[in-house]
Amino acid sequence: MPAPAIDRHAKKLPALIVVLCCALAIALFVVWRALYLAEQEQARARLQLESDALAHQIEADFRNQTETLLRLAKRWPLHSSRRDLWNSDVEQLLQDFPSFQAIEWLDRNYRMQWVEPLAGNEAAANLVYPPTHPNYPVLLSSGSSGRPQLSNTFTLAQGGLGLAYYVPLYLKDGQFDGFLIGIFRVEVLMTDLVQHLHTEPVNLRLLENEKVLFSTGATNLPGANWNVGSQIRLGGNSDFRLLIYPSQQLLERTTTSLPALVTGTSTLIAILLCCSLWLAVRGAQRNRLVNESNRRLQAEITRRQKTEEILKQSQAHMRLVNDMTDNSHDALFIISLAPLEIVYLNRTCWQGLGYTEQELRNIVQVAPADVIPDAAQWLADLRNMLEHEGDAIFQRRVLHRDGHSVPLEVSVRHIRRMGRDYLICVGRNNSEQLQIAEQLQRLSHQDGLTGLFNRRHFDDTILREWRRLRREQAPLGLLMLDVDYFKRFNDELGHQAGDEALRQLSAALSRTLTREGDCICRYGGEEFAVILPGADASQCLQAAGRVHEAVAKIAIHHPKTSIASGLLTVSIGAASLIPASDKTPDDLIRQADLALYQAKTNGRDRTELGDETTTL
Ligand code: GH3
Ligand code: MG
Ligand code: MG
Repeated sequence: MPAPAIDRHAKKLPALIVVLCCALAIALFVVWRALYLAEQEQARARLQLESDALAHQIEADFRNQTETLLRLAKRWPLHSSRRDLWNSDVEQLLQDFPSFQAIEWLDRNYRMQWVEPLAGNEAAANLVYPPTHPNYPVLLSSGSSGRPQLSNTFTLAQGGLGLAYYVPLYLKDGQFDGFLIGIFRVEVLMTDLVQHLHTEPVNLRLLENEKVLFSTGATNLPGANWNVGSQIRLGGNSDFRLLIYPSQQLLERTTTSLPALVTGTSTLIAILLCCSLWLAVRGAQRNRLVNESNRRLQAEITRRQKTEEILKQSQAHMRLVNDMTDNSHDALFIISLAPLEIVYLNRTCWQGLGYTEQELRNIVQVAPADVIPDAAQWLADLRNMLEHEGDAIFQRRVLHRDGHSVPLEVSVRHIRRMGRDYLICVGRNNSEQLQIAEQLQRLSHQDGLTGLFNRRHFDDTILREWRRLRREQAPLGLLMLDVDYFKRFNDELGHQAGDEALRQLSAALSRTLTREGDCICRYGGEEFAVILPGADASQCLQAAGRVHEAVAKIAIHHPKTSIASGLLTVSIGAASLIPASDKTPDDLIRQADLALYQAKTNGRDRTELGDETTTL
């Protein structure tokens, strides 16, 4: 199941548990109510049985009391003429049944004749029942039916409530002779009846036409606001009813703790059930969270393992790269500017300079000039390079620990990372290249045959010196030399001899013109040029004189020369000028050339001075 669906159900579960709680509470209430009502119904049924039994008991008691009156009535044929006998029987009866207030004989004209006892019942003596008397209809009914009948309660003439039990009397010949009346005092009768009940004390009421005649016990017990009733028929009168309320004992007997027990137990079980459900839901949620957390943890572990693997590979790769860069002939170092810091040095850097890595780092930090003599300039160059945002190649010299200088060609590349400027520098010891370059440079300016400077060097030098001396306003001297009759020499002795003669001549020139700055060049073929910076005309002539002497000194035999000595000679054209802005080196060369021509034409083996030659 997807996670959102689980979340949705998980959110509904507490609400479901609350609904379940409510349903259980309602069910518990219903069960408790059913048990309670069942108990009450049982109590009611038991009380009803009791009530019916009491009603029968009361009826039987009453019958028992009235039975004596009936027996007395049966003896009326005898008693009617023997009042003394009637009195004696009545007295006996009154003695046996104290509930009788009085026993009377009412004649057929409804006039009271005999009243026993008279004391206390004088009001009844000579009473004539008027048709308005409440018991009059009872008299009529009883008389006509011949059945004894009990009246309803009425107010006694002597005060208080009473009941009259009318028994029709008949003489021997069956003639109606009035009524034998048993007068009961209600309260006494009822107390007597209740006292004779064979039952435990009950709370009861005796009603006559729903009016309370007599009550006993409490009728407002807590938890007992109900009662049961039973009809009572007394002396043919059905207007009585017995109401019984449950007594404390009955309530205690019929009320058990079962509903409370069932309800309490069920409530406890319901609470436990809800708690269990709640805990199960919480447990499931926690499990889900733990599973989710485990899953994340596992993913994190896998990610970290992968990262570690990548890191290991990266470290191995890094070690390989470091090893390779350490084994490189080139010095590789990375520096960061602002603050100035060496980020990386390969082994070539510190090994090439005779230090350990830490030593070199310390020196660069504390005294960079000990390693890089022009460190300040170099730094300035680097900063300048940064401003122009370009790459650059520097030629620098660094100092080895033993003091010798190592030429270095440093290729610098600028990169910017995370807001910082870095310079990746690759340095290479280029002493060999420099030597080669120097050699090439030298060779390119050297004449192969004589070892002197060549024409190119002459051109460069004369221009450079011209400019320098123009600034200084000093003279620049020039000698142009040409071997005399050299064609003949070659022709006579061969080209190789000619070459050898040229070599000897060059060596003699080199030995003779040793002043610093003098530059002896082979101008072309058997012509030479000597640049004499600072030399005026006379100094040029002096130098030319020394040349003639040196050439004579080497004494190369010339078989076909026209010179008297028979030796190889040279003619020299000398010229000297203070360089001016309106002149060029060509002017000086032209003058020297002209002077040389002049020397040739004047007989050779001599020096002639140019026309505009300057004399200091
Ligand atoms: P001059 O006195 O008028 O200068 O007479 P010259 O014979 O020297 O005349 P020129 O200058 O015309 O002749 C130059 C000769 O120099 C021609 C050539 O045979 C010779 N020569 C030029 N260069 C070389 C070289 O490198 N080696 C040899 N062996 N001979 C050279
Ligand atoms: Mg020549
Ligand atoms: Mg010549």
